[in-house]
Amino acid sequence: MAGKRDYYEVLGVSRDASPEEIKKAYRKLALKYHPDVNSDKKDAEAKFKEINEAYEILSDPQKRETYDRFGHAAFDPSQGPGGGFGQGGFDFGGMGGFEDIFDMFFGTGGRGRRRGPSRGADREAELTIDLEDAVFGAEKEIQIPRLERCDTCQGSGAEPGTEIKTCTACGGTGQVRNVQSTPFGRFETVRTCSRCNGQGKVIEKRCHTCNGSGKVRRVRKVSLRIPAGVDTGSRLRMQGEGEPGQNGGPPGDLYVYISVRPHEVFERRDNDLVCEVPISFVDAALGAEITVPTIDGEHKLVIPEGTQTDTVFKIRGKGVPNLRTHRRGDQLVIVKVKVPKGLTEKQKELLREFSQEENRHKDLPRKEKGIFDRFKDALGG
Ligand SMILES: [Zn+2]
Ligand SMILES: [Zn+2]
Repeated sequence: MAGKRDYYEVLGVSRDASPEEIKKAYRKLALKYHPDVNSDKKDAEAKFKEINEAYEILSDPQKRETYDRFGHAAFDPSQGPGGGFGQGGFDFGGMGGFEDIFDMFFGTGGRGRRRGPSRGADREAELTIDLEDAVFGAEKEIQIPRLERCDTCQGSGAEPGTEIKTCTACGGTGQVRNVQSTPFGRFETVRTCSRCNGQGKVIEKRCHTCNGSGKVRRVRKVSLRIPAGVDTGSRLRMQGEGEPGQNGGPPGDLYVYISVRPHEVFERRDNDLVCEVPISFVDAALGAEITVPTIDGEHKLVIPEGTQTDTVFKIRGKGVPNLRTHRRGDQLVIVKVKVPKGLTEKQKELLREFSQEENRHKDLPRKEKGIFDRFKDALGG
């Protein structure tokens, strides 16, 4: 077939890849392009089909050998003879469904095809919360527009009182089979019935509420428990709160992405909370007990004598809990020493006196290098 990609290329494996390598590559790609998890469904579906087709051939030693010898021609009934592929009867149309993948990897088994139950789509929502909620956890209500079963028609899509008839095109199976005899054997292709879209039934008159889809879009209120310790980017999964399933299949899940509002006082660093607290230069010099804010309320903090600006004090256990261990981080208080402004004449006089006293003790025991000395050192002067 023109334009058909090489199966090895499709799976991204070498021609001498082992069955395990092929299976691994297939599994990875199949999960990546699974139409259920891709927003660009059309693209993903085409890709998904291609991957499945490649795997169908390369995972079967006999088919693989035939493919290695004759290429795509061996599997394309429209092309001339080319090999001895004789067992026939494999089914392109009916494979590659989601059920196959689930069966293969999760062993659910017997979920049927096309008309059988299928899981509803997952949904995503965003929720912005305050830092307090992230620290202590919270219960929030979110509103999710989603598809629900139409009450008017009970999900059948038919106007109440009207008939639902078995599709005459496919006899109610939802699939149309086409058998072709070729030099390579008997090939059967299976397509979804276009008349009933694979449903096997045709509605006489569409339900006026849902226009025949059997579903209506409704805003649903969902109560969400936010665990203590979440952060911006945290994703909460709510099982069964996604779109409803088809034909009795389970509903999808709802994923809520958390974003935490910036706080006026605290900045989060991992599980620690950081804040800046101004102190007077007198408190810094003499030491003091000050009151600082924590996310739990006020807290007494002892500032020792001679505290410098930007000194960091740690208050243990006043940070954010770890999501798993529930152990809380710390609060880090960065002290900012304020230089007073608008001094009275008396205060100025006292400071001058203070300065003279300081000059009299030239050899103070813990005197540090001044900023100008440090500059000179840095410049190598
Ligand atoms: Zn309806
Ligand atoms: Zn049909």
